Amino acid sequence: MTARGQRASAIATTGSPLSSAPISQSVPLWDLLVVGGGAAGFMAAITAAESGVKRVLVLEATPDPLTKVRLSGGGRCNVTHACWDPAELVGHYPRGQRPLRGPFSRFAAGDAIAWFADHGLNLVEEPDGRMFPEANRSSAVVQCLRQSARDHGVALKLTAMAQRVEHQPDGCFHVHCRGGEMVQAKRLLLATGGHPSGRRLAQSLGHQLIAPVPSLFTLALDAPELVSCSGVALDDVALTLQLEGQRFHQVGRVLITHWGLSGPALLRLTAFAARALHGQRYRGELKVRWCGAQDQATLAKSMRDLRQTSARRTLAAARPLVDRLPRRLWLALLQRAGVNPELRWADCPAKFEQALLRSLQESVYSVKGRGPFGEEFVTAGGVTLGEVNLATMESRVCPGLHLAGELLDIDGVTGGFNFQHCWTSGWLAGQAVAEEITRSDRRS
Ligand SMILES: Cc1cc2nc3c(=O)[nH]c(=O)nc-3n(C[C@H](O)[C@H](O)[C@H](O)COP(=O)(O)OP(=O)(O)OC[C@H]3O[C@@H](n4cnc5c(N)ncnc54)[C@H](O)[C@@H]3O)c2cc1C
Repeated sequence: MTARGQRASAIATTGSPLSSAPISQSVPLWDLLVVGGGAAGFMAAITAAESGVKRVLVLEATPDPLTKVRLSGGGRCNVTHACWDPAELVGHYPRGQRPLRGPFSRFAAGDAIAWFADHGLNLVEEPDGRMFPEANRSSAVVQCLRQSARDHGVALKLTAMAQRVEHQPDGCFHVHCRGGEMVQAKRLLLATGGHPSGRRLAQSLGHQLIAPVPSLFTLALDAPELVSCSGVALDDVALTLQLEGQRFHQVGRVLITHWGLSGPALLRLTAFAARALHGQRYRGELKVRWCGAQDQATLAKSMRDLRQTSARRTLAAARPLVDRLPRRLWLALLQRAGVNPELRWADCPAKFEQALLRSLQESVYSVKGRGPFGEEFVTAGGVTLGEVNLATMESRVCPGLHLAGELLDIDGVTGGFNFQHCWTSGWLAGQAVAEEITRSDRRS
């Protein structure tokens, strides 16, 4: 271990050499202080240290840094997405879409993959494009980041919650932690994720905030008949969310849950509609096209065929789109249309057939609210992007302050996109701090 590495682990394991320091001239001056030991904070700290910044400290409020990395992707961590074109990549960000073009032209998914490979962690692509660590465990990502930080002498101080910050006339930052301890640094990076304390710190330094609202959640529907289909997943389902004056549309895989709907297409829908749904108290109307790409004529023909080939069988026993439609879902659609499943196809009145055709093409459900949990929650909103130079992640209202990760008004859909913008903004901030510190060291 390098001398700097030894100093870092001493700070991490003994609590802190700073803890007994009085608030005075004797408080050590860090080159870069990162508030928040998550994905963005670690990436920034490591990048700055690798680029020559000598004194880098990460303050983390909890005893366990990188908690969300550890919990992410169901314990596997979906690190990024195999999407190589920055112009395409930005399409996965409901907030930040246009502003991210510049940052992604400098550090995008391919760069993140190469960065992790250079730091000893290979990522592998799944058929849907999501990228996970080869070991298939999020702990491998945590280990990679912690080891890289240690190797480059990044100091880590745990259970240190930053509560207040002062920007001094000489340009330095004084950060006051819970318990009274003060830390000072030439440059400050806020990477506090969706935690309100970070937004308060940014606000106290002059930043405007876009009110935070949840994104990437499941929907609770008024559809008691779907409860029996819980666990059924279906591809190519078209979803149209109708809110007062606004409409959102997605097509893809959905998962029926015991409260309503989840799955990638539904999560993408709620991500794009996050703010509008919040404004309408999570009430609206969801139209679901269960029949996939089947057109009206094909569907009608499959019903006619059933009348002929299965005339003596019941509606419950013989269903249309047999290769696509799970039986449990068909029974739920019969129930919703008020059709007796024990009717035989030969006796099914035309009006029932029409009702079933409509249910397959467009079942309309009332949205009752948000579901209890999703695969991944992120906060939409945060520091307004117009106040940040996105080439350096430096604040335009407070020189010397940088911001990265979920604290910014950027969020992506599920699939590795949320971590990707953390790697990108963290890397850009780390690079920019290194350039500034090197320049000022040369001057002095
Ligand atoms: C269950 C779950 C699963 C997810 N899975 C994925 C996935 O597989 N792929 C993906 O791309 N995204 C995923 N996400 C989203 C992703 O985790 C976040 O987008 C990402 O962690 C944001 O990183 P960050 O560094 O900005 O913030 P965080 O990871 O939230 O890190 C911020 C850190 O700052 C600390 N902190 C906050 N305030 C202070 C303070 N005042 N002082 C000191 N420290 C402070 C916090 O304790 C925290 O450790 C998931 C989210 C959840 C909740």
